[in-house]
Amino acid sequence: MTSPTQPGSDAGGLLLVLSGPSGVGKTTIGHAVLEHFDGVFSVSATTRQRTRDEVDGVDYFFISEDEFKDWIEQGRFLEHAQVYDGTWYGTPSAPVDEQLERGRLVLLDIDVQGACQVRNSRPDCLSIFLLPPSEEELHRRLQSRARESQEQIERRFAKAQKEIKASEQPGIYDHFVVNDDLSAAIDQVEKIIRSRLHPS
Ligand code: 5GP
Repeated sequence: MTSPTQPGSDAGGLLLVLSGPSGVGKTTIGHAVLEHFDGVFSVSATTRQRTRDEVDGVDYFFISEDEFKDWIEQGRFLEHAQVYDGTWYGTPSAPVDEQLERGRLVLLDIDVQGACQVRNSRPDCLSIFLLPPSEEELHRRLQSRARESQEQIERRFAKAQKEIKASEQPGIYDHFVVNDDLSAAIDQVEKIIRSRLHPS
């Protein structure tokens, strides 16, 4: 295994936006990238229910809608969006800035609406959208995770189709990577990051 690479030194860290539909492999690819570049995941706040496997403050900050509104009013979010009907998600800005100042890579796993806001407020971010090899394959992957009801799977699939369409809006994403083969997709994402950190 190669030793982790530190992104920025004097130049500050790197804000990496990684988006893509549910089931595309964002989490796996994100973890591989963070290990390689010694980066950190940004922990989002959400109003959705915590699942049994999730830990508050680690996977998300699970907060009420009233708290979420307070956080918006207090200007605590770098971006925030209603990702599913009635469910809010947002990136707290303070921890992101703290890590960037330390020269680290900070990974935001956020949807297209959030990516669009970050693109506007932090134009120097690096944004990558992960695509499935085909919509049929994505549907198959969502089914095979077997962690949700058929209704939830179909809801995620419909959202995924919308998300892929929305990602095509010009100016939001710098790169699109197809996750056909996992290790090839990881290599490609790492190559994109390296070329941003060390432009030739
Ligand atoms: P899940 O509920 O499956 O953990 O996440 C659902 C979706 O919400 C994912 O596509 C993820 O990218 C998006 N998401 C998670 N955190 C944030 C956030 O802070 N902001 C935005 N805009 N989207 C988020």
